[in-house]
Amino acid sequence: RRLDSRSGLPAGLLAETQTPISSEPLDIAYEVTGELGRGKFAVVKRCVEKSSGKEFAAKFLRKRRRGRDCRAEAVHEMAVLELARNSPRVVNLYAAHETDHDLVLLLEYAAGGEIFDLCVSEELLPEAQVTRLIRQTLEGVQHLHQNQLVHLDLKPQNILLTSLAPPGDIKIVDFGLARRLGTAGELREILGTPEYVAPEVLNYEPITTATDLWSVGVIAYMLVTGESPFLGDDKQETYLNVSQVNVDYSCDALSRVSELAVDFIRKLLVKAPEDRPSAAECLSHPWLWQQPPCLNPEPVLVRPVRERSCGAKWAAPLEDKENF
Ligand code: ADP
Ligand code: MG
Repeated sequence: RRLDSRSGLPAGLLAETQTPISSEPLDIAYEVTGELGRGKFAVVKRCVEKSSGKEFAAKFLRKRRRGRDCRAEAVHEMAVLELARNSPRVVNLYAAHETDHDLVLLLEYAAGGEIFDLCVSEELLPEAQVTRLIRQTLEGVQHLHQNQLVHLDLKPQNILLTSLAPPGDIKIVDFGLARRLGTAGELREILGTPEYVAPEVLNYEPITTATDLWSVGVIAYMLVTGESPFLGDDKQETYLNVSQVNVDYSCDALSRVSELAVDFIRKLLVKAPEDRPSAAECLSHPWLWQQPPCLNPEPVLVRPVRERSCGAKWAAPLEDKENF
């Protein structure tokens, strides 16, 4: 890994945090209960604050990874969360603790679990619900990008819900691969999960905010079809499918999907990052502002979309209506 010549820290990582890091054992103030999830270097457990009864998710970030001191990577994840925290679409950081093994982040608890479960469930969500979740995801992504942050690991496992039935609001989690643009010169790295990652990442080309929008396209595809667009029988095939943008728009899975949904997905799953719409542009796509037929016979408040950029890749709908 590249080290920064001045700080000696891995290049591009943020080192400054504001939240105090407590060395008090977690179980003094919290009752740690079941496991919510785990990845390569982290375990997430549900816990309850003894004084308030409030629930949290504690993410235990291992400081030693592959036999190496990776405290800087854990601190970076915490620093990114702090920079991103002013959005209701990003999971909130409440406190931090540190043990010999881990940096423990106390996060807002998202009780509805991963939207991944909605993608693989027998019954798919109606499109009117999918558009609400995609809109919220884009709002979160737009907030990150406004703060020069790129997530780089957006996938249905890292978008959580505040409640499951009915589906609540989304919370973006897992900033382990996130980077601040402009902190390490050009960003080119192999990161993320091949199934969800943009061609420029696989091809070792520069990474920009457009990289996250590819992933939003994959997530939208999965929510409306229940299938993963690029997943092959093995990693090699998946890589090839992504780098050739191998999507069959006449496949069975998409035949049950609205034309506007397909149009939205088509505009994001584009090989050249500069040809993908930004988060703000996506937010003015008519698919996201469609009235579900017969859902609301009452007159609906008309609210114009703000932040519609002049370079929008599509004509904005005449009237934008919030459909919930
Ligand atoms: P990793 O870096 O290991 O992928 P994540 O931050 O993605 O770690 O967390 C792993 C899993 O734990 C998530 O996919 C989710 O299922 C669960 N999880 C993470 N954060 C929360 C949270 N705030 N509330 C509820 N569940 C969570
Ligand atoms: Mg994750």
